[in-house]
Amino acid sequence: MTAATVLCIVGDSRSGSTLLQYLAATQWGVATAGELRRLPQLIRDRKACSCGAPVADCAYWRAVLEHAGIAPAALHAPPGGWHQRRGELAGAATLAGVPRRLARMAAPDAAALADQYATLHGALAGVSGARVVVDSSKDIGQALVLALQARLAVRPVFLFRDGRAVIHSQVRRTGIDVGLAVRHWVRLTRSMLLMRRIAGARGVTVMYEDLCARPQAALTALLAPFGVEVQLRDPPPPSEPMHFLGGSPGFTVTSVELLAPDEGWRTSAPPALLGTFEALAGPLNRRLGYGA
Ligand SMILES: [Zn+2]
Repeated sequence: MTAATVLCIVGDSRSGSTLLQYLAATQWGVATAGELRRLPQLIRDRKACSCGAPVADCAYWRAVLEHAGIAPAALHAPPGGWHQRRGELAGAATLAGVPRRLARMAAPDAAALADQYATLHGALAGVSGARVVVDSSKDIGQALVLALQARLAVRPVFLFRDGRAVIHSQVRRTGIDVGLAVRHWVRLTRSMLLMRRIAGARGVTVMYEDLCARPQAALTALLAPFGVEVQLRDPPPPSEPMHFLGGSPGFTVTSVELLAPDEGWRTSAPPALLGTFEALAGPLNRRLGYGA
């Protein structure tokens, strides 16, 4: 059996990663991690897996760690700060063609972290027999750091959604300042477009609205190249508990047929929010194809 491919979702929060991961998880041959980068923290804080059990006690994650040969206490946490930044730059350099060996030497701690992620992804594939592992950490830094390892093929999945919907949803959910949220969205979207350019054919793009409108086609485009035959059934069958890390607890899809993008912002986003968005991010949003 060939080694699994890791699909590493990159995108802002409220962009549809939970939906994408959920639909992928219903397919044979796909293992899903959720936000893998949070594994050490979730174990330490005794936070719950999506199956309901604390991650530290969840039989699935215990099996993955055992398969990986990593004791929970030995998990590296993402470093943050300057170390994180150096690892991201080294990963970006690798994507751009700098020899991996040199990039690893420049950021040894990030290289060790990348190896650990690859071991965990490999173990996820190992315990489930999957060909594809979906990591929805969403973090661009993690996707860059993963370029420092060569054990598993990693494909960044750039998940985009109309920025007006993203900001409306974030503000409604967390009360975050509109300007702050829009500026973050602009920075992240620019970084994603830059990374997509350097990743070239290795990158995959998914538009949330497209996923909702044509889930079978969108999922096939994403998974078929890696040997997964997509068969969406209605209702989608979570035949066993799913074991996502982080994300939205209790998320479920009742009908694939009736999936529709949440376009609530069109009727309920305050004009001031849309005005701020247009001033700071309108042209970038149109560049993604979101005009009307
Ligand atoms: Zn679980």
